[in-house]
Amino acid sequence: MTQDSNPQHELRVIARADHGISRRDISNSALKVLYKLNEAGFQAYLVGGAVRDLLIGGHPKDFDVATDATPEQVRAVFRNCRLIGRRFRLAHVMFGREIIEVATFRANGGEDEGDRELEDGRLVRDNIYGSIEDDAIRRDFTANALYYGVDDFSVRDYVGGFEDVQARVLRLIGEPEARYREDPVRMLRAVRLAAKLGFTIDAAAADPIPGLATLLDSAPPARLFDECLKMFLAGNAEAAFLGLERHGLLKVLFPETAQALASNSNGALRRMLLRGLANTDQRVAQDKPVTPAFLFAVLLWPAFCRELARLQAQGVDPAVAQQRAADRVTVHQTRLVALPRRFSIPMQEVWLMQPRFALRQRKRVFRTLAHPRFRAAFDFLELRQEAAPELAADVAFWAEAQGLAPEQLAEKLVVQGAGEGPRKRRRRRRRGAGAGGE
Ligand code: ATP
Ligand code: MG
Repeated sequence: MTQDSNPQHELRVIARADHGISRRDISNSALKVLYKLNEAGFQAYLVGGAVRDLLIGGHPKDFDVATDATPEQVRAVFRNCRLIGRRFRLAHVMFGREIIEVATFRANGGEDEGDRELEDGRLVRDNIYGSIEDDAIRRDFTANALYYGVDDFSVRDYVGGFEDVQARVLRLIGEPEARYREDPVRMLRAVRLAAKLGFTIDAAAADPIPGLATLLDSAPPARLFDECLKMFLAGNAEAAFLGLERHGLLKVLFPETAQALASNSNGALRRMLLRGLANTDQRVAQDKPVTPAFLFAVLLWPAFCRELARLQAQGVDPAVAQQRAADRVTVHQTRLVALPRRFSIPMQEVWLMQPRFALRQRKRVFRTLAHPRFRAAFDFLELRQEAAPELAADVAFWAEAQGLAPEQLAEKLVVQGAGEGPRKRRRRRRRGAGAGGE
């Protein structure tokens, strides 16, 4: 072993008999990569989330490999290999649709030393290669810094991660504040991984988060969007949301939603939001599709309601206020979290469809049912009912309406229409009105 300047970072080798990782739980492609790199004379280990998840009996979705081979050397070993990345140069070894990511051991090095670049304390390029110990201590949490090799099937631990995994604790490697300043997204990773794994965040890692939360303002919006998807579409959205709230991150990541929740004294909006996230988790557990559009419709609904109420209080026409509130909330949020238009447009449609569910005129009913966003908007209406029991009649009507044949529905509407009371009739229906065109 090379000399280690920090006595805390002493190598501990957990032998095959003393950990629960079996080769059967590791993807064959990842095993091939490990064996081939070893055969070519390089060190190679499974690392990161996969080792952590295997230790707690989980089934990792992806398997990352760390090696002392440079990306070019990795490419020379595998024909099915592509080099990617600038900020972080990596080799991707392809096996059909499966990709094994192979990274060369990296070192922390000095600021702006070699192929490394910092901007305002943040890493923008990070390609100084180093030893396996160097590689371990530059990772975020000790649980994420364990190495599994096929030379002796042991787990190598340089930072006390093995014990932390047993104790279900997320502990930052190094000085927490410095590690968060270097990469503020680590605060979100702490919350996300704690939610996903059911780990607790060690106090030293948790305590600085509220005070440093605003550092996220300067994180790249595209990266925050990716992190949001991992946080909310991986089956632990509700727990992640509660974690964001608890650690003072919600008000930075979703400021307008946080404000709306704070001013909604009966808690109805929060209940609805949590219910929406719990439903999302349920769908993930059942392998049903989940979409970023619906997710963000849930997350930003409180913000939308608040903005809508504000505009209506100013006397803005309701239909105009709807669209304006949707646009404002979207514009403000996308400055922080880069929600792409292909998701923000259907998100807005889900919101703008909501008032239509109160309308029972025959033509409107048929138009609403035919809207491409009907299903999502109806699911959303059901969610709203959680917080607004008075919507029960609407939910019941549309639940039935979508199951009826057109003639049956038409008949039902004639009967209902009679009792609907006086409603101003437009002389002529506007054609082609889009979502929310009331
Ligand atoms: P998941 O189960 O969600 O994939 P993960 O820990 O594997 O969790 P990845 O984003 O796949 O997360 O990252 C792989 C590994 O890279 C991590 O386990 C960690 O060792 C390291 N890593 C990722 N992001 C950071 C970061 N921001 N700072 C330091 N190390 C990181
Ligand atoms: Mg991973």
